[in-house]
Amino acid sequence: MDIRGDNVDKLTYIMFDNSIYCIKIIIVHYVVRKIEMRCPFCGELRDKVIDSRGVHKGGVVRRRRFCLTCQKRFTTYERVERLSFIVIKRDKSREPFDRDKIITGIRKACEKRPVSYETIEEIVDEIVEQLQDIPGHEVETKVIGEMVMDRLKELDEVAYVRFASVYRRFKSVEEFREEIDKRLKGGANV
Ligand SMILES: [Zn+2]
Repeated sequence: MDIRGDNVDKLTYIMFDNSIYCIKIIIVHYVVRKIEMRCPFCGELRDKVIDSRGVHKGGVVRRRRFCLTCQKRFTTYERVERLSFIVIKRDKSREPFDRDKIITGIRKACEKRPVSYETIEEIVDEIVEQLQDIPGHEVETKVIGEMVMDRLKELDEVAYVRFASVYRRFKSVEEFREEIDKRLKGGANV
């Protein structure tokens, strides 16, 4: 199933302008379209970028802009959106991959835990990166879930168990306890 044609218009792409490597990949995987940035103060489109730098490896670029109409300054965080892929759910229904959904799930698991929002973003960026080349552009939710769990395991035990309890849908308290016991015994490689 080729989703490329279908999803092109629904997604937004912003191109990095500083890397040959990125441009090469973009030709293959991305559709590139320059976004029109409206000034948040006056709503006009004409602005000038006065500073530009990457925030982290997930491909976010922070741009300081100067509105040519009202002369105010504002900041944009721009992300290269990859061409999406399809997620196959437990009931075999399919839906487009939704980055925000995963972020929300991980954030819940990391509530009141020492895991920064930036780290969560990085986890998801890494996963998305890995999923870019999956054959057929389709992946089962459980695969994504396991990928998240692998990372949470390393990061924070509590967040891991919380996430696992939702994702693996432990059928009983015993099953849940088994998982925790495994963790406590150091059986992390499950
Ligand atoms: Zn303005």
